Amino acid sequence: MGQLSPTRGRFTPHVRGLASKGKMDYILAMFEHLPSLVFADAEGRVMDFPDLAMVARSGDYLLPAAKEEVIPLPEGSQLYVLPERMPVGLDRKTGEVVVLESNPYEASSPVSAVAVFLPAAYTQTYLAAWERSHRACELPLLAYTALGWQDGFVTTAVRTDPSTRQDPNTFDREKIEKGILQWLQDLPGNRLVEHLVSCATCYGCPAALNLFQGREEAPLPTSPSCNAACVGCISLQVKGRPPSPQKRITFVPTPEEIAEVALRHIATADSPVVSFGQGCEGEPLIQAETICRAIGLVRSKTTAGTINLNTNASMPGMVARLADAGLDSIRISMNSARRETYEKYFRPSYPFDALSESAREMKKRGRFVSINLFVFPGLTDAPKEAQALRRFVEDNEVDMIQWRNLNLDPDVYLEMLGQNLPAGVGIRRLMDEIPCRRGYFNPYLG
Ligand code: SF4
Repeated sequence: MGQLSPTRGRFTPHVRGLASKGKMDYILAMFEHLPSLVFADAEGRVMDFPDLAMVARSGDYLLPAAKEEVIPLPEGSQLYVLPERMPVGLDRKTGEVVVLESNPYEASSPVSAVAVFLPAAYTQTYLAAWERSHRACELPLLAYTALGWQDGFVTTAVRTDPSTRQDPNTFDREKIEKGILQWLQDLPGNRLVEHLVSCATCYGCPAALNLFQGREEAPLPTSPSCNAACVGCISLQVKGRPPSPQKRITFVPTPEEIAEVALRHIATADSPVVSFGQGCEGEPLIQAETICRAIGLVRSKTTAGTINLNTNASMPGMVARLADAGLDSIRISMNSARRETYEKYFRPSYPFDALSESAREMKKRGRFVSINLFVFPGLTDAPKEAQALRRFVEDNEVDMIQWRNLNLDPDVYLEMLGQNLPAGVGIRRLMDEIPCRRGYFNPYLG
C-alpha cells in the first residue's frame, strides 16, 4: 500500500470515535461497498485503488461517497489531474480519512488527485477531495467534481435537464460547417455572424454551434463591458489569475445585425430560443437601448421564438423596458441569495436588491424568470443559504432554477468567502425542497 497520512487543515474526519465496537463493525462493513478512490500516477494515468474508498467534499467537510450519491460518468465529462494536490480516501479497515502520498503500485512514485469537469445538463452534488501541498497554484476556472471507480468511473452528480441540446453526441460537424458557410454567404458583413463563427470554431461554444446547426438556443452577445467584477468571470480576468476561457466581444452590434441573426434562427430552428448575455461578453443591460431596438425589430416581424436575457439583473428599469419591447424571459446569475455572499463574489457596482426588483418587473408583466445558480456543495446547501434561496424564489415568484456548477478553485472560493460553513443539507435534498421548476437550460416558452 502507498504512503498514507491523516488529513490536515480544515478537514473534519467524520467517522472515528463516533461508535462502539459493534456499531463500528457495522459501519466498516458498509464501507466495503463504497466506490473506490482513483488517482493519477506520475505520467497522468488514472487508476483506482480499492483499499481506499472514494471520499467527496462539501465545503470544508469530507465524507465517504455513498453508493446512492454516485452515477456512471456522463459522456462528455473531462478528467483533470490536479497538480500539487494529493488524493484523499477512506481506509475501509479503520474508517480513517487519509491522504494517499505515493503510488501504491510503484513505491515512492508521486501521485495526484483527479477531478471531473461535468458536461452540460449535469449538476455536481459533491466536490473532489484533495490535500493541497504548499507549492499548489490556483486551479483554472472550472468546476472540480468528485470522481471514483465502481465497475467504471463514477461521479457525484445529477442530471438536471432532459434537453439534449448540448449533449456532445448531438453535434453534427458536417452540418455545422455547411451552416457556417451558408450564414456567411447569406449575411455578408454582419459582424455578429463573424464573431459567432469564431466562437464556434475557436471556443467550440455549444450555443454558437447550435446556431449554425439550426436548432434550439442561439447566442446574441452585445456588450464589451460590465458593471460587476466576478471573481470567476469567464470573459475577463486580471493578470496573475487563471485566464478567462473566452475573450469579450470588442464591439456593440447594431440592432439590425442582431435582428438579422435572431430572425434567421427563429425562422429555421425547432423550438427556437435566442439569448442575450453570453460567456463572451460583459453585462448586456449596459447595451439595453440597442437590445430594446433589436427586440422591436424582431417582434415587428414575428411573434415566434423565445427572446431571453441572461443577466446580472442590475437595472430593473431597463428590464421593464425590455419586457415592454417583447422580452419573454430573463435568467438572473447568482452564487447566492444572501447579500454578503453575493457581493463577495460578484463585487457589483449596483445594489443587491436590484436582482429581486428586476424579477418583479418581469413577473408584473407575466414573463418568465429563472435563476442561473452557481452551485457549490457546502455553500449552496448551507442552511442559511438554502433558506435565503427559498425566500428569493417565493418572494419573487421565480419560475425555474438552472442548477449550474461554479467554475472556480474551491479553496480560492472558500478563502474568499471566509465563512466557517456548517455541514450542508445536501444538494439533491435542496433541489427537492425548493418549490420551483428545476433545469439547466433556458426553456422554449412556445
Ligand atoms: S456579470 Fe458576467 S461579465 Fe460581468 S463580471 Fe460577472 S461573469 Fe463577468
